[in-house]
Amino acid sequence: MTLIIGLTGGIGSGKSTVSRFFSELGVQIIDADLVARQVVEKGQPALRKIELHFGNEVLMDGELNRTFLRQIVFKNEQEKCWLNNLLHPLIRAQMVEQLAKAKGDYVLLEAPLLFENNLNKLSDYDLVVDACPALQVTRACARDGAGKEVIDAIIASQIDRQTRLQKADFIIDNNDLTLLALKKRVQQLDAQFRKLKN
Ligand code: ATP
Repeated sequence: MTLIIGLTGGIGSGKSTVSRFFSELGVQIIDADLVARQVVEKGQPALRKIELHFGNEVLMDGELNRTFLRQIVFKNEQEKCWLNNLLHPLIRAQMVEQLAKAKGDYVLLEAPLLFENNLNKLSDYDLVVDACPALQVTRACARDGAGKEVIDAIIASQIDRQTRLQKADFIIDNNDLTLLALKKRVQQLDAQFRKLKN
């Protein structure tokens, strides 16, 4: 069995960047966001269930209209629950399948909501990328062109920073690192993870 390391962090903390650096070292990454999109691709049974439940306005050219769906569930807790009950088990099952096939000393399970959605039950150790809220806002706004209020609301909807850090086995403090220093920190952790396996 390949060792599974969960990778998480708040919005704009630097997860995707960290994940890219690991990937450059040949580490296999299983991305929860990607799996979440795969289970509702055209032709997937879950997409048909969503269509039957919400009506065909939820589709655009046969594909899921995410913006439309997000607007519905954002305002309605019951619909959000319905959707989560449908998708979460499918996403988890798909991840378990991909993790079972993973090769290498270890594999990364990248999930923004690793702890919130209990995906850390699938991982052996968890790596948290940490950045202070002010930096999260600056980075996420610059990247997405979104307003501060939007990013603040997303931060507030995620697990709080202290709790996330307490749950971590490994931490990348991405507050005062240049991208080059971040890359070096990833190389250091990679060596550490390979030793864990042996
Ligand atoms: P999200 O949860 O929104 O997907 P994320 O945690 O994956 O965010 P990234 O996309 O990796 O975050 O980083 C956000 C932005 O900040 C990116 O534009 C990235 O290049 C930049 N960034 C991350 N870390 C650093 C750093 N140490 N120095 C400079 N820029 C950084």
